[in-house]
Amino acid sequence: MVYEYSLKTEKQNFYNITSSVKNAVKRSGVLNGIAVVYCPHTTAGITINENADPDVVNDLLFALNKTYPNRMEFRHIEGNSAAHLKSSMIGISETIIIDNGKLMLGVWQGVYFTEFDGPRMRKYYVKVISE
Ligand code: ZN
Repeated sequence: MVYEYSLKTEKQNFYNITSSVKNAVKRSGVLNGIAVVYCPHTTAGITINENADPDVVNDLLFALNKTYPNRMEFRHIEGNSAAHLKSSMIGISETIIIDNGKLMLGVWQGVYFTEFDGPRMRKYYVKVISE
């Protein structure tokens, strides 16, 4: 089963999508297996990180922008190579174990959709696989 979700994004941000991943698992009825969260974009990503203090994802975005700034030397005509780079560094999917109907996320972990080149309408998919 694949569940599709859409998201309207700002220029750059991290969006907590944990509740929609939980929703997909619930809808699937799968009790034990895995959930794959996948984003079909080249300037966005999927990651798992702290969900308690919003400053953590703000700091991640700040550090990604410092580490991967736009450069004069980039050749990509669209001018958004830094966003493509951040997408590849973060990755475009995560896999989460489902145990007894629940995602095995740590208490401080949340699933995030990461936008690096918005604003756009984005999609992501959750594929739930039974063991
Ligand atoms: Zn591009």
